[in-house]
Amino acid sequence: MRELESMLEHYNYQYYVENNPSVSDFEFDTLLRELQELEARYPEEADPNSPTRRVGSDLTAEFESVEHRYPMQSLANTYSSEELGEWVDRITREIGEVEFVCELKFDGTAISLCYENGVLQRAVTRGDGKRGDDVTNNVRTIGSVPMKLRGEGYPAVFEIRGEIFMPYASFDRLNREREAAGEAPMANPRNAAAGTLKQQSSQVVARRGLDCTLYHIASDNLPFGTHIENLEAARKWGFKVSEHMKVCRTRGEIEEFIEYWDTERKNLPFATDGIVIKVNSYAQQRTLGSTAKAPRWAVAYKFQAERALTRLVSVDFQVGRTGAITPVANLEPVQLAGTIVKRASIHNADQIAALDIRLGDMVYVEKGGEIIPKITEVELSERHIDSQPFAYITHCPECGSELVRYEGEAKHFCPNSAECKPQIIGRIVHFVGRKAMDIEGLGGETIELLWENGMLKNIADIYDLNPQQLASLPRLGDKSAANILDGVRESKNVPFERVLFALGIRFVGETTAKYIATHFRTLDAIAKATVEELSEAEEVGSKIAVAITEYFADERNREIVERLRAAGLKFEVEEKRRSSNALEGKSVVISGKFIGRSRDDMKALVEAHGGRNLAAVSANVDFIVAGENMGPAKRQKAEKLGVTILNEEEFMALISGDAIVNTAPITTAEPQAIKSETKPIQGTLF
Ligand code: NAD
Repeated sequence: MRELESMLEHYNYQYYVENNPSVSDFEFDTLLRELQELEARYPEEADPNSPTRRVGSDLTAEFESVEHRYPMQSLANTYSSEELGEWVDRITREIGEVEFVCELKFDGTAISLCYENGVLQRAVTRGDGKRGDDVTNNVRTIGSVPMKLRGEGYPAVFEIRGEIFMPYASFDRLNREREAAGEAPMANPRNAAAGTLKQQSSQVVARRGLDCTLYHIASDNLPFGTHIENLEAARKWGFKVSEHMKVCRTRGEIEEFIEYWDTERKNLPFATDGIVIKVNSYAQQRTLGSTAKAPRWAVAYKFQAERALTRLVSVDFQVGRTGAITPVANLEPVQLAGTIVKRASIHNADQIAALDIRLGDMVYVEKGGEIIPKITEVELSERHIDSQPFAYITHCPECGSELVRYEGEAKHFCPNSAECKPQIIGRIVHFVGRKAMDIEGLGGETIELLWENGMLKNIADIYDLNPQQLASLPRLGDKSAANILDGVRESKNVPFERVLFALGIRFVGETTAKYIATHFRTLDAIAKATVEELSEAEEVGSKIAVAITEYFADERNREIVERLRAAGLKFEVEEKRRSSNALEGKSVVISGKFIGRSRDDMKALVEAHGGRNLAAVSANVDFIVAGENMGPAKRQKAEKLGVTILNEEEFMALISGDAIVNTAPITTAEPQAIKSETKPIQGTLF
């Protein structure tokens, strides 16, 4: 159960904060359901803050967070029409005759718009359901959101909720622009909409072509007693309200609506991921009430991910910067979830064998969390009689080296890292990337050109480039050469954590690099650290620790690192001005969720006051600051080792000089209740 909780928390973070999910919604929902079932079986083991009981939070530090007047909840969901039928029957049994409203489930990100006397005051994301991010300036740029209402009859104060989404046309345009700029395309319109809404520049938001449909009103003084009447009124006040809503009275009518839209939605110009079924009458909604996470009077029926059938024409093998081989299928173009699909990923040789994928087969492709769809099944009834099992390659398609398979790795690798072209180019492209050294002007094509002309064999060569050499290259004039050299010069100011990421050590991503840099402070300390010492840093497991030690054990890497040092790159964390020395010499573990601050903010406070952050509880830790849901295992370990546990308030008092850390007995910090003025409202709860 603990493992499922932490997996789901991680996926929630990727989905809601980073807008970059790594698994499909169906996979996420299957794990969530598994946890729900375990919680029902072992209620004494259930964590009160489990992801099954709270909405996934999109709160970020970049926006001011504001409290919702009425909580903003999630929706219970199901992929099974049988379960949906049971839900309808249960509701009917409980409250007698019911009218249901069926609506499209728009696939974007939820928003709450607050109006006072007909004027838009605030636009807030769902956040954690109690508080959301204030994104008013960004929402003001969306044409379909009225700044001022028309007509009459709206309450003096009310909130209207809906979905901000990115129509396919805007999404395709955005991805074309991103690809032209050498940036990774967005995986789907939902992520694109949610990511756009959290942009710092509202000019960028304005350009992206977002849209907004409203589907719920909350107020103490609504003009009508039913959901649909209020929405029809909202349409007259100037809001965009879906045309595709229907009042249904029976299970059969609901099923008909679902069946119709399961096909018809493919013709809509925006993404939908299901149908929402709501009880129409507010009085009945109030009778049904809600759980901590979702109303009982509504449910989402989610469509299975769309899939399409097409022919597998050929398979390409791509060699990544680490030498990993990824097979990519070339397909006969086919329409899927609003885009034309020509390529699909197949991951590795095992998967080809498991699905028995053969050239010429008719295959089903589906979109998951990733941008490239994947092949999920072969339509065996359409297989050609002469088809042959797929023979996986044995040698690198680029340099001809024999491929190897490392223990525990699903992929094949080309071991020739020093000479295999895509690996060299891939490493350099990674090094100059926006999140790494951010060297403008040096794109993939220019890097390839420099490599072909013998000027760039590794990342250190970048700092030896000179204007004459560059200007002599075909297609590169004086101006581009000067641009590149400016970028190279500026990259010497890039902070150490990004330099560490740029080195391209296996498994050391952007976030891990940050943790390692914060923990060790200098590159020399990292290079000297043992696997055990490296594992002390947050987010670093043995796999990453081993990869780091292997990197520095390689003579060629050490030589490159020394050349980068000589070029003047930053190899140390720059010490920020300290706020105080209150935590001088103290090692601190920050654990759980906090009320006023994010975990990163808490860690920044530790450093600003001279302390050191550690990830794991050990005898070296001076004290732990425990938030709302500190893991029980961590707490037990702390108690066993006799490590002091402080709550957020005690910690704040400590760094502000109002208290002295008492390292003696354990103060079992009770999680503080969130003080909320959020009030429930006439059954309208999300
Ligand atoms: P949800 O998306 O299943 O349903 C609630 C949301 O539906 C509302 O907040 C609202 O934004 C939206 N909605 C669209 N049309 C609506 C309408 N007509 N009426 C009412 N609401 C409407 O729930 P959620 O809590 O936002 O997200 C949870 C779901 O998100 C999960 O079940 C999963 O499918 C997905 N998710 C995926 C990942 C991943 O890694 N792939 C991670 C977290 C969540």
